[in-house]
Amino acid sequence: MLIGVPKEIKSHESRVALLPSGALGLIRHGHEVIVEAGAGAGSGFPDEAYEKNGARIVSDVEKLWADAEMIMKVKEPVGPEYKRMREGQIVFTFFHFAASEELTKAVMDSGCIAIAYETVENPDRSLPLLVPMSEVAGRMSVQQGAKYLEKAQGGRGVLLSGIPGVKPGNVLVLGGGIVGVNAAKMAAGMGANVTIMDISLPRLRYLDDIMPRNVTTIYSSEANIREMLPNLDLVIGGVLIPGAKAPKLITRDMLKTMRPGSVLVDVAIDQGGCIETAKPTTHDNPIYTVDDVIHYCVANMPGAVPYTSTVGLTNATTPYAVEIANHGWKKALRKYPELIPGLNVAYGDITHKDVAGAFDLDW
Ligand code: NAD
Repeated sequence: MLIGVPKEIKSHESRVALLPSGALGLIRHGHEVIVEAGAGAGSGFPDEAYEKNGARIVSDVEKLWADAEMIMKVKEPVGPEYKRMREGQIVFTFFHFAASEELTKAVMDSGCIAIAYETVENPDRSLPLLVPMSEVAGRMSVQQGAKYLEKAQGGRGVLLSGIPGVKPGNVLVLGGGIVGVNAAKMAAGMGANVTIMDISLPRLRYLDDIMPRNVTTIYSSEANIREMLPNLDLVIGGVLIPGAKAPKLITRDMLKTMRPGSVLVDVAIDQGGCIETAKPTTHDNPIYTVDDVIHYCVANMPGAVPYTSTVGLTNATTPYAVEIANHGWKKALRKYPELIPGLNVAYGDITHKDVAGAFDLDW
């Protein structure tokens, strides 16, 4: 199969869908790989590294899309890419269809086979191609929170670790899933006093077993959150109710009970946020303040660390790309049932219930 890897054109997106080592793997299986010039540069992978591994570097992106039987991307197709997708071509990338009817229609009109990273789903309902990005965002949330706690950034001037003779900062992590566990690990590693809240008792039991002694688990409820807020330095929002908007666990009136200069990092902002006053921000302008509390609500946190994010994402996606290339998409779906919910649109038809439901379309 001929696999094409275009350079991402969405603003501030420096990730690339395939590493030079991934290209080598595909080539060893007898496939051909074409990579748009400069596609990997933003993540630290120069054209020469792909060429050394047998991929061809091309500068004509229209031809790359026209020739490739499978396109591997990171972000959903945008603008000029709508017209480049073509009938029968496999497009393997993040789509997030429910967020854009325009994109959904463009993909349907193209007749391509859209396999979406975000809906590939294991039998235990985990989402293997989303996990690495939650790991990045969870770990980064503490790094960002610690930064904005600094006085020069507007924060209350607290070092999360404390020092000998001075108590550490207090961190609350809402949601003990992938984001939460990674945030808690980072904050605990710094020496902060960490609390994780979740509504799943099995999850709290598990976290209690594996977390270090400076992490406490508490059942998530409005009363428990209200009780903690006046003494917190940093809150990380990492809750998720699959398929639904995030519940608002910190409401506007609660902010007044927090100390000036404390920081809220709402990682769940891509699902609407779990803090009532949260609204999406960008890496260019990541924070704003409400009632003297700093809000960090960047919707694509992994974009700030493209090297780590690219390697983490491709570790998860490349094995599936190899199977799709080896067997064709239909057989790959039969062999790897977790790919079945990943198929969102095929030959103009929507094949995923939630995507159809988002726009009242047939499926
Ligand atoms: P996850 O499913 O692994 O974990 C979510 C956890 O929230 C679960 O343990 C669940 O029991 C818990 N939860 C649900 N309702 C709760 C409540 N009322 N109180 C406390 N806990 C509750 O999900 P995840 O992978 O950790 O992702 C969390 C969120 O972060 C998602 O919305 C995801 O899309 C988002 N995310 C954002 C970015 C970004 O760049 N901003 C990056 C990656 C992930």
